Amino acid sequence: MLILIGSSMNLSAQTAKEFGTIWDEGHISNKFPSDVRHSDLKVYIEQLRKIGVSASEVGKSGAGREIYQLEFGSGPLKVFLWSQMHGDEPTATSALIDLFAYLEKNKSEPGIKDIAAKLTLRAVPMLNPDGAEGFTRVNLQNLDINRDAVKLRTPEARLLKELHNAWHPNIGFNLHNQKYLTTVGPTNAQASVSLLVVYGDAAKTTNDGIERNKRLAAAMVRALEQFIPGHIARYDDEYTASAFGDNFTAWGTPVILVETGGLYGKDESFLVKMNFVAYMTALRALATGSEKNEDPGAYLTLHENSSGGLVNFVFRSASVGGKNVDIAGVTERTRASAFQPVRIRSVGNIGKVSGLEEYDASGFNVVPRFSTLKPGELMELLFYRTARSIDLNAAGLEGTEPPDAIFSGGKWLKGEGVVPRK
Ligand SMILES: [Zn+2]
Repeated sequence: MLILIGSSMNLSAQTAKEFGTIWDEGHISNKFPSDVRHSDLKVYIEQLRKIGVSASEVGKSGAGREIYQLEFGSGPLKVFLWSQMHGDEPTATSALIDLFAYLEKNKSEPGIKDIAAKLTLRAVPMLNPDGAEGFTRVNLQNLDINRDAVKLRTPEARLLKELHNAWHPNIGFNLHNQKYLTTVGPTNAQASVSLLVVYGDAAKTTNDGIERNKRLAAAMVRALEQFIPGHIARYDDEYTASAFGDNFTAWGTPVILVETGGLYGKDESFLVKMNFVAYMTALRALATGSEKNEDPGAYLTLHENSSGGLVNFVFRSASVGGKNVDIAGVTERTRASAFQPVRIRSVGNIGKVSGLEEYDASGFNVVPRFSTLKPGELMELLFYRTARSIDLNAAGLEGTEPPDAIFSGGKWLKGEGVVPRK
């Protein structure tokens, strides 16, 4: 048995699971990220300041909302992170709050001391507070900040570029959310986290920083695999000349893009934890230098993102107007606290599409509650056993003939369990 002695070994002893436990026990974010408005961010900022985190106002949004930059450490390697440039992509904002709270509260611990000595971190949580307020991708001018890195028509893009120019970080983390139904390559598993080491040109010219980022991304993948194996993918690698990630890399700050997706059965907070684990893993690997020994394979061999094969709900073999059909439905993305309507995606042969929830509706006539059973309409469904003899076209059917089950807003309003899960 080899016994390792010395602080340098202890410094690299923290595991992904331990980072997960640290988040479980100490996170200060206390709302679902999609419910965090700018006023909530300000509360978080005040909490951070109370524990000693440097949080300065560095600019204002188009509507005059404050944009903040957090700072930690005083080391030579400059790490810059920014979140929520798309207002409806909130997960990383809460993760950054939890990250800085953790680092500041534990700055006397050897591992954190090491991070503070080797790295300086700056982070902008919620670059697009106006978009966050409206839960929209764009800013107040209806412009996509992430397509404004060159023209700089938005105050938020100008600020982001200024923050870069004033500091020239060595590495950037561009933090986003992707669709809930984004999947991993040929599988129909949700891509809960997708990573991309971003090149600075269409020719994919590499350099030391980009190669370092591949190793770092591999370390992040290996950490995340402890929690969500099979749910990690590589973001589609397409150069976008007007996007910030690509330009940061071109400006000398190689970027890792982190896209948080969805995970059926887990809430948004779990994905905050996944972000926290990924960031801490990257920071520790940078501080200890362990990234130099990392095999980039874990990143390079990830499946790419895929889409179109997964929906939220599928009802198989339903009887509709005398025909045997499958009905697929997709949930609209809203804030966690808002009503989340489910809309019909397709009726008929849905091919290889699978559902996060699938039901065997054979033996049931399915009648739309309110409108018609066609794509785009709300998925509000009445289920009648085919053995019952009912005039399914009768006016006011739901009132005169009580259905065996009612599916409404993504839930069973009546008769849960009557239509069996597949
Ligand atoms: Zn985005």
